[in-house]
Amino acid sequence: MYSITILGSTGSIGESTLDVIAQHSDQYSIFALTGCRQLEKLAQQSIQYNAKYAVVTDESSAKRLTSLIMDLKGTTEVMFGSDALSEVASSNQVDIVMAAIVGAAGLLPTLSAVKAGKKVLLANKESLVMAGSIFMGAVKQHSATLLPIDSEHNAIFQCLPDNYNDGDQPSVKKLILSASGGPFRTWDMQKISKATPEQACAHPNWSMGNKISVDSASMMNKGLECIEAKWLFDTTMDKIEVLIHPQSIVHSLVQYVDGSVLAQLGNPDMRTPIAHGLAWPQRLASGVADLDLSEIAQLTFEQPDLVKFPCLQLAYNAAAEGGNAPAVLNAANEIAVDAFLDGRIGFTAIAQAVEKTLDSFDFYEPESLDAVQDSDNRARSVAVSVIKRIES
Ligand code: NDP
Ligand code: MG
Repeated sequence: MYSITILGSTGSIGESTLDVIAQHSDQYSIFALTGCRQLEKLAQQSIQYNAKYAVVTDESSAKRLTSLIMDLKGTTEVMFGSDALSEVASSNQVDIVMAAIVGAAGLLPTLSAVKAGKKVLLANKESLVMAGSIFMGAVKQHSATLLPIDSEHNAIFQCLPDNYNDGDQPSVKKLILSASGGPFRTWDMQKISKATPEQACAHPNWSMGNKISVDSASMMNKGLECIEAKWLFDTTMDKIEVLIHPQSIVHSLVQYVDGSVLAQLGNPDMRTPIAHGLAWPQRLASGVADLDLSEIAQLTFEQPDLVKFPCLQLAYNAAAEGGNAPAVLNAANEIAVDAFLDGRIGFTAIAQAVEKTLDSFDFYEPESLDAVQDSDNRARSVAVSVIKRIES
């Protein structure tokens, strides 16, 4: 029996994880669940999965959650704050941690799980974008097992040679990340500039949280994923390519030096990479429907359009810059996406705000987590003032 903490259980990845776990309750039990705003859902999950602990961000949410759990006659103990998040991610009663908090808020608890040497299922790509070097250093130092849940990275992980990390890296020529192109792939720039949050969140293939949905529409998500891939697979940006594949069936590909290209295919359902991560190196049924290629009939591929989707180019630039540039990119993007979702700025202003924020920084190599967090904080305040200027 494996004991699991799900950081961000109330979100899209969190719910898919619980769905897979429910299918295998003889093998997996819940130690802790965490959420932020959706307290009713967290209370209900805590009861249904008999969680030992439920963690929220602040005291007033904790009081409300405690009373919701008492009303449901549950026994889950409620905690709050960032120390509590780190505690349930690193407890010696936990075997597996699913890191599925969205954004920079996921960094510290995920890193706590890594430092405790856990098996960490990484959905929170922002932690690697912000602090890739420190994060991967900690994985090595504490012998954590890091398994990628982002579908592209999980696909690449499945297609790499077994001894990739022990000498077989030169046999790999390229990592090819597929991208659906998002809901605006076929729109012209004029139409994209008028896109509403609802349209941006209506992803054609995947059902996801709002932030990553907007990132997919702007293709910032693919940019973040290139940086994520660089760190996860210890490679350089010139070996990473993006390929638009609107059907989201081929989840990514690995090109070998001998001309072989290995790909992982499946229906677009996050329960596949989640089940893969949970059971690795074994396999586990996930509840995902069998792939019917004759029904799908056609798989198509095209190059990304960097003019229509400037966020992808901005991410490439930040990756090339290195140091704290990706952390600045990520923080500015989080602020800009929030402003877009709030209706304060238009869709194209997301890229403008990120670009202006990046332009105002002198980059350096952040040697410590404090330095990363300082870059993140400063980028947020610059982005807020850039957006105020765009609003007025
Ligand atoms: P959601 O928005 O659906 O869920 C986010 C989770 O994080 C929720 O549980 C939310 O709580 C919690 N949360 C939000 N803000 C905070 C905070 N400040 N402190 C603590 N917890 C917080 O996101 P997704 O599930 O879609 O994505 C989660 C992560 O996985 C992201 O990093 C995303 O990039 C990555 N990912 C997601 C994929 C997907 O298919 N959804 C695919 C690949 C990667 P609450 O809802 O209670 O407020
Ligand atoms: Mg992805």
